Amino acid sequence: MKPGTKCIHAGAEPDPSTGAIMTPIYQTSTFVQEAPGKNKGFEYARSQNPTRFALEEALAVIENGKYGLAFSSGVAATDAVIKLLQPGDEVIAANDMYGGTYRLFTKIFEKFGIRFHYVNMQEAENIQPYINKNTKLIWTETPTNPLINIVDIAAVAAITKANNILLCVDNTFASPYLQNPLDLGADIVMHSATKYLGGHSDVIQGALVMNDQALRDQLYFIQKSCGAVPGPMDCFLVLRGIKTLHIRMQRHCENGEKIAHFLRNHPKVGHVYWCGFNDHPGYAVAKKQMRGFGGMISFTLKDDSVETAMKLLSSTKVFALAESLGGVESLINHPATMTHASIPREERIKNGLSDSLIRLSVGIEDAEDLIDDLKSAIG
Ligand SMILES: *Cc1c(COP(=O)(O)O)cnc(C)c1O
Repeated sequence: MKPGTKCIHAGAEPDPSTGAIMTPIYQTSTFVQEAPGKNKGFEYARSQNPTRFALEEALAVIENGKYGLAFSSGVAATDAVIKLLQPGDEVIAANDMYGGTYRLFTKIFEKFGIRFHYVNMQEAENIQPYINKNTKLIWTETPTNPLINIVDIAAVAAITKANNILLCVDNTFASPYLQNPLDLGADIVMHSATKYLGGHSDVIQGALVMNDQALRDQLYFIQKSCGAVPGPMDCFLVLRGIKTLHIRMQRHCENGEKIAHFLRNHPKVGHVYWCGFNDHPGYAVAKKQMRGFGGMISFTLKDDSVETAMKLLSSTKVFALAESLGGVESLINHPATMTHASIPREERIKNGLSDSLIRLSVGIEDAEDLIDDLKSAIG
């Protein structure tokens, strides 16, 4: 099936007890058993829940994977992947990624004896020098947050396969509609379902998708043992979100393109970060591995002062000043003080994330209104 049909039908079997076309919200903590150990495959809702299972099936289908697992947040999904490792193991991670992932690695898992190396993965060969016998996982994100850099997933996968290392790709920014890392050789795809999958800024949730059954079993064991499972209502919301993922992403891409070009042609705008420009350093790879360029755009102003950026951030009317992304409504964000404040300033500046950088999550409103809003805010 094609992606749009998959979004609508994945995981959607009529409910066996009533024929309900939409998956019911099984708001229950436990399931009655006929005799000890004799049950309908459901024992306790941390381990099994029918609404969650329907969502996990949908996640697998839209990512072209065999198995999906849903978590109570994106960082809980990341947390589960790192729990595959032992003290002494090493991870090579992208140097430009979601601030909360960096915080989880440095502030939580380093304490447990796992070592992280942060590498610019825009050139896959930069990874090789960091590989040693303890390297167990490569963690990457593309397009990156917030600098919209592109990592060549197939090139990184060639390295992980040759060295027997797991590759996990945070696919939150692209969404499964624009990019499928498993097809490019990744072992695990991670999502903050809070973003494009949910799509309506009304739920916090995470997801993992994989093909290997042994890996699925280990991650399922971690999911149920550590307990970061989403509730059935939240699973229903993400299932509902997925049904319109394809049409939302089409509009995010159209609006993203219009706004990226508007910004680039504006005399007061400095640099615009968007991977759909044909002079973007990752353009060729983005074109090869993505079906569109998405609605995430960052930019700076020519007057590169933090004060001017702050003024702009507080003067938009349609773009709401908020963290998060991927919802139907447009958001504007200041990475240095908001989403990426957990990364030390010197680390941020070293990686090109300046204090004046502004990030947009372009929503699916009418593009003209979004452009008018930015026009008057930039002044
Ligand atoms: C938001 C986000 C996360 C974390 O997900 P939560 O659902 O907020 O826990 C991870 N990666 C990326 C790229 C994100 O944007």
